[in-house]
Amino acid sequence: MLPKIEYSCPQTLEELFEILEKYKEQAKVLAGGTDLLVSLRDRIEKARHIVDIKKIKELEKLEYREGEGLVIGATVTLRKILESRVVKERYPVLWEAVRTIGDMILKNRATLVGNICNASPAADSAPALLILEAKVRILSREGFREVPIENFFTGVKKTILKPWEIVKEVFVPEPPRNHFGRYLKMMRVMSEDLSVVGVAGLGYREGGDVKIRLAYSSVAPTPLRIREAEEAFLKPGTIEEKIERAVQIAAEKVSPISDVRGSAEYRLHLVKVLTRRLLKQIVEVV
Ligand SMILES: Cc1cc2nc3c(=O)[nH]c(=O)nc-3n(C[C@H](O)[C@H](O)[C@H](O)COP(=O)(O)OP(=O)(O)OC[C@H]3O[C@@H](n4cnc5c(N)ncnc54)[C@H](O)[C@@H]3O)c2cc1C
Repeated sequence: MLPKIEYSCPQTLEELFEILEKYKEQAKVLAGGTDLLVSLRDRIEKARHIVDIKKIKELEKLEYREGEGLVIGATVTLRKILESRVVKERYPVLWEAVRTIGDMILKNRATLVGNICNASPAADSAPALLILEAKVRILSREGFREVPIENFFTGVKKTILKPWEIVKEVFVPEPPRNHFGRYLKMMRVMSEDLSVVGVAGLGYREGGDVKIRLAYSSVAPTPLRIREAEEAFLKPGTIEEKIERAVQIAAEKVSPISDVRGSAEYRLHLVKVLTRRLLKQIVEVV
């Protein structure tokens, strides 16, 4: 049973910010509610007031502009993203990551912005957004700021957001031309589950070189991009040597824990196996 909590459903940003200012830390934003309601039920989070943002028109945008990028508004559901041809064709790594989140019933309600605001280390959209170098657009009565997603997460279930701020949208710039991107997610079951480890990677050619980007879920307190592994891959050597160097550095930089989904040792093993597998696929394609 949930404790008694007030609920409101503003139609405008102005009304929303009035409520957030009035209730401060005691207000919680609700998008799809698939994380929030579970956290409230389990007493992980407390709230006096829930403010549902689903009716606010300015947050509904899912828009792609050639040469610029993709805007994903705060109330855009995972299902809408999955049904978008432009996301599937231009941002395949993001599309693939979204596809792995829960089942279709969940995707009908849950949002991508909710996935990152919840700031779980296991958030499946986060590694893809990290390697796509997405920007988080934050709004409050005080104004607007845009931060790289790499600076958004500060710890387990923690972000830079202040209680009176919301994420208005995520901006995903145009990815490198002719890139190849994938998200590999290891789960306990061949069905819906949080990741034991997830790896997002992309590769592209620049000059004569193959460049890569790598980011992970469920291996550290926050979703993690490992630039050191990307740089190690660039150093001279055969493709096999480059891959092995990146794999070893990725394994050094993660700090996995043991929990119900897997031991720290198993996670470390998976980081190596999945990184190697992904990099082999990347160099075959680009
Ligand atoms: C059965 C089940 C299976 C799941 N499977 C997966 C999975 O495979 N992979 C995965 O990554 N996750 C999974 N999840 C977690 C969850 O569904 C996702 O994180 C989802 O994307 C959250 O989106 P939401 O819109 O429901 O967020 P909500 O629950 O509405 O919000 C989540 C948090 O973000 C805050 N918030 C939401 N929107 C904003 C905003 N615009 N500005 C500021 N704060 C905001 C809320 O206050 C809350 O703290 C699962 C959950 C369930 C219940």
